[in-house]
Amino acid sequence: MDFDDTPEEAAWRVECRDFLDAHASRRDGAIDWSASHWAIHPTVAEAEAARVAAAMWQTTKFEAGWAGLSWPCEFGGRGMSSHFNAIFAETEAAYDVPIGVYAQSIGMAGPTIIVHGNDDQKARYLEPMLRGIETWCQLFSEPNAGSDLAGLRTAGVIDGDEMIVTGQKVWTSNAIEAAHAMLLVRTDPDAPKHRGITYLLLDMTLPGIEIRPLQQIDGRAEFNEVFLDEVRVPLDCVLGDVNAGWGPILTTLANERQSIGTAGRFGVADVVELARAFEVAHRPTVRQQLARLVEMESTIRYLSYRVRTAASRGELPGAESSVLKLAASRRLELQGSLVMEIMGGAAMLAASDAHMNGFWQNASFLGQWMSRIGGGTDEIQRNIVGENVLGLPQEPRPDKGVAFRDIPI
Ligand SMILES: Cc1cc2nc3c(=O)[nH]c(=O)nc-3n(C[C@H](O)[C@H](O)[C@H](O)COP(=O)(O)OP(=O)(O)OC[C@H]3O[C@@H](n4cnc5c(N)ncnc54)[C@H](O)[C@@H]3O)c2cc1C
Repeated sequence: MDFDDTPEEAAWRVECRDFLDAHASRRDGAIDWSASHWAIHPTVAEAEAARVAAAMWQTTKFEAGWAGLSWPCEFGGRGMSSHFNAIFAETEAAYDVPIGVYAQSIGMAGPTIIVHGNDDQKARYLEPMLRGIETWCQLFSEPNAGSDLAGLRTAGVIDGDEMIVTGQKVWTSNAIEAAHAMLLVRTDPDAPKHRGITYLLLDMTLPGIEIRPLQQIDGRAEFNEVFLDEVRVPLDCVLGDVNAGWGPILTTLANERQSIGTAGRFGVADVVELARAFEVAHRPTVRQQLARLVEMESTIRYLSYRVRTAASRGELPGAESSVLKLAASRRLELQGSLVMEIMGGAAMLAASDAHMNGFWQNASFLGQWMSRIGGGTDEIQRNIVGENVLGLPQEPRPDKGVAFRDIPI
């Protein structure tokens, strides 16, 4: 594809800027990273204020017709290509507004429901999601099923017109404030592991759901354990068919990898500013690493064009999204180390003692593992690329074709 803006794209960029100038202010470098992560606020009142601010910005966009740009018009979107959507996201990142808050809802749950949901599900879930009224979380990972997602053991047993769900999920981001969840359950232990899974759209207020925040080494609690004890889920919450959850799962994961790969509101220009602020921009080692970051940022931009081109042709992003996510992880790894080097001893300061309230320590250094582990680890992405792009031999899969209940734990 052509990497320069077409006249239509350039005009769209201007339209995006006009809309944003009319409804928001440009950020001045003092990035409020907490605005997009309300779970980390020290008090309930502050978290609630951040949540309300995010919902207000989303509602503003919805009412002006700027939410879910790549969603089909019939579901409140504008039917634009994902490339146009990305141009808006790139432009929005320069403004002082909460971004990335609805990535799991609008970026993952929504596209999955649009592809695999029935008419009732689309009517029930999509508009409140796009308005920012209802947020979603992802109940996929379990204590023994992360990389090997198909090894999940949370059980779903049909009882009349309900499914009784019992099990445990872990590492669930934003579970506390989520109204709904994308939930995976094992419904046929006699089938091979990829075939006996059902995808449910779960109401998080149902009796039997207990959410326990997990406190991290930095004192924050961004993700949770979720316990499900005989939760009775109506069968009309099954997405697609019973035991056929693997198709919708792949749709969610591909969208997740794409959104992780293209996420981020700061780039190399911000790191250069940081180097200037710490008066180390002249150091050859810093300059070399900055140059490497520029190179990586360009690679990621072109890889994301490739993924967007596939999406705009109606193709599900496949191994390209794994390549993109891997490239983004490598950049975050380099950037995380570089910002710590730039800040030197000051990198050890926290909260209000730290430069920009600890933005770089948190969003860049600690935050790199969100990309490197969440949505499938670097090693798993390499496996996908090795098998699906390079044609290397498959990993040994002794459990292939074996009934799930016969696979040793
Ligand atoms: C910031 C963050 C947010 C998250 N949010 C969510 C969420 O909202 N919902 C959710 O469901 N999950 C979430 N997760 C969980 C995430 O999806 C899992 O952590 C991830 O899939 C890895 O699983 P695991 O932690 O069980 O590690 P494991 O699968 O146990 O892996 C451990 C190590 O072994 C390596 N490994 C495993 N298998 C292979 C293999 N076949 N080949 C080579 N190496 C291998 C892995 O790369 C890793 O280094 C989140 C994780 C993070 C970090």
